Amino acid sequence: MKAITVIPGQPDSSSLRDVPEPRLGPEDRRGVKVKVLRVGLDGTDKEINAGEYGAPPPGADYLILGHEGFGVVTDVGPEVTELRPGDLVVAIVRQPGESLYDRIGNPDFTTDVTYHEHGINLVDGFLTEYYVEEPERLVLVPPGLRDIGVLLEPTTVVEKGINQAYEIQRRLKVWEPRRAAVLGAGTIGLLAAMVMRLRGLDVTVLALEEGPYLNSELVEALGARYVSTQKVPMAEAARAYGPFDLMFEATGFSPLAFEAMGVLGKNGVLVLASVTGGDRRVEIPTDALNVGFVLGNKVMVGTVNASRRDFEASVGNLAGADARWPGWAQRLLTHRVMGLTDCPKAFELLGTKGVIKVYVQVADAD
Ligand code: BGC
Ligand code: ZN
Repeated sequence: MKAITVIPGQPDSSSLRDVPEPRLGPEDRRGVKVKVLRVGLDGTDKEINAGEYGAPPPGADYLILGHEGFGVVTDVGPEVTELRPGDLVVAIVRQPGESLYDRIGNPDFTTDVTYHEHGINLVDGFLTEYYVEEPERLVLVPPGLRDIGVLLEPTTVVEKGINQAYEIQRRLKVWEPRRAAVLGAGTIGLLAAMVMRLRGLDVTVLALEEGPYLNSELVEALGARYVSTQKVPMAEAARAYGPFDLMFEATGFSPLAFEAMGVLGKNGVLVLASVTGGDRRVEIPTDALNVGFVLGNKVMVGTVNASRRDFEASVGNLAGADARWPGWAQRLLTHRVMGLTDCPKAFELLGTKGVIKVYVQVADAD
């Protein structure tokens, strides 16, 4: 079968390659074979293809790319009762390691030195025709969500961060968040606004570009507010639409995390979700930020990846969004690339103007 592979560490190494098709052997009693339908791409894939990070499975010299999968079950081992052929599924990205967190089902909180992630680190991904996984790491997607199921994985990243914020705020006993801010209006920022609106918050999305354009329209379609920071600086937006009880940073530009620290409301929580691979340095007002956090009892938390809980909650998020704003999530799927052969086109599209989510249509359901 075909797969899109990279040689991690080697820039622009992505290529279409023949790889062995995984089979369910007699020993795979708990195996589930999945036919890949769609795979979303994001900045992580771009960085892996740029040779910036990622690692092949032990013993291999290439890595099959793709972590935002969506597929259909074609075969199950004799001891699988959770899933059957025809079920639509999304695979959990991170595999459990050794730490205590891994052992209680939270590999997203692993303290192991190395983590294992499909299509990213040490485990093959989904930009291929078939893969085999255990039912513990597959999440059922109802047929009604088949058109937007490819958005499940990025939604889980957002859900985990927001859920963590609520978990943390249980410290306050009576936390009733009202106003929230999202920094960035890319796929993650838009999905964060969606999840926050579903939780009933007044949401302001701050991003560079001046509206109106598709992303600002999508923000407004949720009943959220779009603010261009070229027109209204973050501090001014916080005075007008804050104080923000919850902030979610998803711009990929780390200085904004520190700017957000300066405008977060009292007792507020700031969630950082940008994986910034660079070495940027800026000067920041440390006394002011520090005292603001001290006197305001504020929290800042980093978040990565997602657990099974977040995948299941995100099926609910997508279903909730589809009921409340029909067709909204589909509008995020701006660019489809047909088939694995056309995949290089997908890399060119990533991060360009007018693009929200690029995905590869690997196969059709039947
Ligand atoms: C993925 C996460 C992953 C993270 C770090 C993101 O693009 O969506 O699942 O944990 O990259 O590798
Ligand atoms: Zn991703």
